[in-house]
Amino acid sequence: MVKEELSRFLQRVNANLLINVLATDRHIQVGCMMRKKFPQIIHQFDVWHVSKAIIKKLTEKTTDCAVLWHWIGSIKKHFWWSVASCDGNLELLKEKWRSVLQHCVNVHHFECNNQFHACAHQPLTEMEQKKKKWSKPSSPAYHAIQDIIFDNSITKSLEKLTLFCHTGDLEVYHSMMLKYCPKRQHFSYDGMVARTQLAALDHNYNTGRKQATSSRGPTEGALKFNQVFPKRCKTWVAQPIPDKNKSFVQENFNVPNCRSEVKRYQIVRNNKTKLAQEYCEHG
Ligand SMILES: [Zn+2]
Repeated sequence: MVKEELSRFLQRVNANLLINVLATDRHIQVGCMMRKKFPQIIHQFDVWHVSKAIIKKLTEKTTDCAVLWHWIGSIKKHFWWSVASCDGNLELLKEKWRSVLQHCVNVHHFECNNQFHACAHQPLTEMEQKKKKWSKPSSPAYHAIQDIIFDNSITKSLEKLTLFCHTGDLEVYHSMMLKYCPKRQHFSYDGMVARTQLAALDHNYNTGRKQATSSRGPTEGALKFNQVFPKRCKTWVAQPIPDKNKSFVQENFNVPNCRSEVKRYQIVRNNKTKLAQEYCEHG
């Protein structure tokens, strides 16, 4: 179904637009269709999907090798960095990605590589070296990481990552769309079009927000972070807080806040009160 929809979409769009690159998930049939029907379009994978597959494989291995939990976050970041900094060079990408296996055993120079000869981080101090839980070359953790680094499907996927395509912004837009067009509520066609347009305007209005800063107190002007504890990484992480999200509609038109209206409707609907019906009649 996904393959057929994409095929029809590309045929329709191709008539008016020149598509150079298309990034999708790792759907096998889509890859096959792109090769056969649209060889002129460069097909890439969304980095997030491959990263997710790597984390899933690593997480599965933790049942037999709990020490891997210490490495999952670092391996994920290293993967994103390798893809982002490969400059379209597949060989460099492979060498950067595979170097993490050596890094895990406290080896940071790679004589055998053709293009990537040393880790990009600063030399580690003695204290840093002592604090890290390094693996040993014959340990189960080392073999588990090795299996994933040299996994056939991951290696094959690297070929379609060299342009560093990811759909993070699109995911943010979809999240905004749900605020204007919740799936549980029915809208007329015109209503759907208008709400989609408002969601697009609101999304564009908030694109490229800077990181929020503290507005008062001794830390005034300092960048703001949230402390989060992702279940998979099992470690505390400082996550940057973006500047306050502004509503395009509320700031540019004299109408109530659409997003809070939709939220109010959802709460009311869940409570099954009369107000929900009133909202439907007027909404
Ligand atoms: Zn290193």
